[in-house]
Amino acid sequence: MTVGSGVNILKFMDRNESAPAIVIQSEKRGDYDRILTLLSPVWGIRRVIVYGARKSQKAVKASLYTEATFVIYSNPERHNCTLVDITPISVHSSILTSLETSFSASLMSELALIEKGEEREELYDLYTSFLDILDENNWRRVLIQYIVRYLSLVGLFDDLEYCPVCLRPYGEKDILGFSSSLGVPCCPNCDSMSSELILPPNARAYLRESLRTEKERAMGFIISENMEARLLRYLTRTLSYSLPVPLKCLKSGLLNSLQ
Ligand SMILES: [Zn+2]
Repeated sequence: MTVGSGVNILKFMDRNESAPAIVIQSEKRGDYDRILTLLSPVWGIRRVIVYGARKSQKAVKASLYTEATFVIYSNPERHNCTLVDITPISVHSSILTSLETSFSASLMSELALIEKGEEREELYDLYTSFLDILDENNWRRVLIQYIVRYLSLVGLFDDLEYCPVCLRPYGEKDILGFSSSLGVPCCPNCDSMSSELILPPNARAYLRESLRTEKERAMGFIISENMEARLLRYLTRTLSYSLPVPLKCLKSGLLNSLQ
């Protein structure tokens, strides 16, 4: 072996990276390839090409919602990454078997994609732990808990103790309004949406206690189906006012047909 080729091998090895990640989006590219979007506590959001994924039996494949240790190769000449190998942790194969769980997971993915990567570890933990427990019976509660924690993580939901506009502590019986300029819930006096988007005291108490509690315990809080449906509607409407871009899965109107 010459010195030169040894250096080349070292360079090649340097470009292989390995980390835990989950496939949160999988798109076709041309006739043969796929582009996977990975969410990782190490890389944040990373797009990876799988050459031949759609045709070749030999290509390393990772279907949507596969959580694994991924080995990827960064190609600086092409400015892209390709998938080298995976060691699966969980494939979450049941997610795509029902409309409710498919919808919930795609909403979770879209929210994860908006995040700029500063909170990658927390987001990965949030995403994977709720995807692990998501099923046809608890999807509304999973989405409520995921969304409220997501909004808190990205700084759009405070602890629901005081108004972020006038800084006044909320009264127990306050019905919260919404500040469209800040994109956050606020006290009735600061409401700029003429009570179009309100949060009643009992619903606020549930969200506030959820944020104070571990995920697993908060999932056990009992609320009626009616309350779940209303809270999910409130939170998805909040997302449409709080986020810089509209969510594709909410535009479809599918949520209304599921409720
Ligand atoms: Zn206020």
